[in-house]
Amino acid sequence: MCGIVGYTGPSQAAPILLDGLRRLEYRGYDSAGVVVQSGGELKMVKARGSVAHLAGLTGGGRELEGVCGLAHTRWATHGAPTDTNAHPHLSEHGLFAVVHNGIIENFAALRSELEAEGIVFRSKTDTEVVAHLLEKYYDGDLKRAVMRTVSRLEGSYVLGVVCSKEPGRLFCVKEAGPLILGLGVGENYFASDVTALVARTKNVIYMEDGEFAELTAERVTVYDRTGREVTKSVSHVVWDIEAAEKGGYEHFMMKEIMEQPRAVKNTVEPRIRSGRIAFEDFSLTRAELEGYNKIVITACGSAYHAGVVGKYVIEGLCRIPVETELASELRYRDPIIDGHTLLIVISQSGETADTIAAMRECMSRGARCLAIVNVVGSTIARLADNVIYTHAGPEISVATTKGYTTQLAALYLFAVWAAELLGRVDAGRYAQLVDSLLELPRLVQRAIDLNVHVKYLAERWHGQQSLFFIGRNIDYAVAMEGSLKLKEISYIHSEAYAAGELKHGTIALIDEKRLVVALCCQDGLFDKMVSNVQEVKARGAKVLGVAPEGNRRIFAEADDVLFAPRGEQLFAALPEIVPLQLFAYYVARENGCSIDKPRNLAKSVTVE
Ligand code: GLU
Repeated sequence: MCGIVGYTGPSQAAPILLDGLRRLEYRGYDSAGVVVQSGGELKMVKARGSVAHLAGLTGGGRELEGVCGLAHTRWATHGAPTDTNAHPHLSEHGLFAVVHNGIIENFAALRSELEAEGIVFRSKTDTEVVAHLLEKYYDGDLKRAVMRTVSRLEGSYVLGVVCSKEPGRLFCVKEAGPLILGLGVGENYFASDVTALVARTKNVIYMEDGEFAELTAERVTVYDRTGREVTKSVSHVVWDIEAAEKGGYEHFMMKEIMEQPRAVKNTVEPRIRSGRIAFEDFSLTRAELEGYNKIVITACGSAYHAGVVGKYVIEGLCRIPVETELASELRYRDPIIDGHTLLIVISQSGETADTIAAMRECMSRGARCLAIVNVVGSTIARLADNVIYTHAGPEISVATTKGYTTQLAALYLFAVWAAELLGRVDAGRYAQLVDSLLELPRLVQRAIDLNVHVKYLAERWHGQQSLFFIGRNIDYAVAMEGSLKLKEISYIHSEAYAAGELKHGTIALIDEKRLVVALCCQDGLFDKMVSNVQEVKARGAKVLGVAPEGNRRIFAEADDVLFAPRGEQLFAALPEIVPLQLFAYYVARENGCSIDKPRNLAKSVTVE
């Protein structure tokens, strides 16, 4: 995870680095640090805590003179989040400073080797070995020192490197993890994510694994693993800095919940022309689709929950068997996957390490891969055979909202498109489904408008210690996401359960202290859900029901009610999650939790 920024140019570096770092803080926030070249030395400040704290220690960076430097915000993997373990890390004689995103898997062996040579380590991190190796191999040729160092490393690493003896020069290295170069006029940058750069430049270069780059104020040179120069194309970022700002909201999460109608529109509308779904650049043909005997969807976290919804919808429309599996599990078994399997991977960032590993495993067995990602040019997007970009815009809150709903929209688009191509829906039903897709943004807005009372419900229920979310069919998939949303930002334990399964053991946990959130939005299953609600009420539980707008029977069953607008049943998960996002948000707010940056978490999980 972690955020990295580098700058070289004519301006004072530290304020620019800190501004970039602030925009990357969603990637890790247990400590932060900055280093600049200054008068032939490296000046470094780093500390446990937030980027704001670091800014406070350096007068917003103004107290650090120098025009070339690096900065880092950490999500610790090796060593506790302390001042000493914060990045950057310096070499023995302070010649080199390094920032790192990822894990150096062979660090223990390298550390023993360097300690045997008399080097004294200051931190407990895996990263520090890199700084010492650079100094060991530096003989006046910085590029060679970087290459020799990198040749010793195993694992995943994005590195930023600065040397006190090389004024105005930076190196950055990419091996499994995001890295983008930003091209300015007379100044250049690198960063983990475009959000750190977009206030300064919109011209970027996406780096590939195995590449490294040299930056000066005037020039950017990219090399491959062997040190040969590579020609890279320059991409233009289309969104503005406002998209990465809070825009008057108290939290990014609320801003992103409110952005969902537009985000879903941006996913759906460009793919529908004259009533037909079209994926430009798709190489998937009807013959190829007919050749698949199953679809495997793999992802982590909320993206996995989107995949569970995808299973119901794709199977329902296309009648192809779909398996949904956690990427961190799929990769470590011997999956039955071959050229007749279509793999769908889902990741907001396109950099999720477990998903990338599962994807590589399945593709090596012959599966073709369709990726659903938000971040343009990300690793997953580049590895996949076909991509559906969700176009949700930058998502800064660690707990995903618009990232998840746009993934659902992309899955729905794919399901309807494939069903038509395979001849599994007639023209009338196809037209109806396309209309329903176009209606989704309005339904999301309606879901927001219908549930203004949710903040009062959160006031009533925020004191819970543990609760259950129950549902059947697609509602069960929504229950999983609703439960995760609450857990990750409010720290209240909750569990999602298939409503019919509760009585097979877990109902033992139901008592008069328990709140059960019952999702009752599947028309044909409403009566079954009422039975499950009765079961938990008979044991004293309180019930928060989620029901379709206009359903009055729910009032007889539940203590409180949230509403989901009515639309196409197959697509119900998308508007239905909105009240649960709002519920999680207001409960976390009532409990005074750090909503955008929950404890122990980070966005874009780039370690395995
Ligand atoms: N493994 C390094 C550490 O624990 C880097 C972690 C990160 O990516 O933030 O310091």
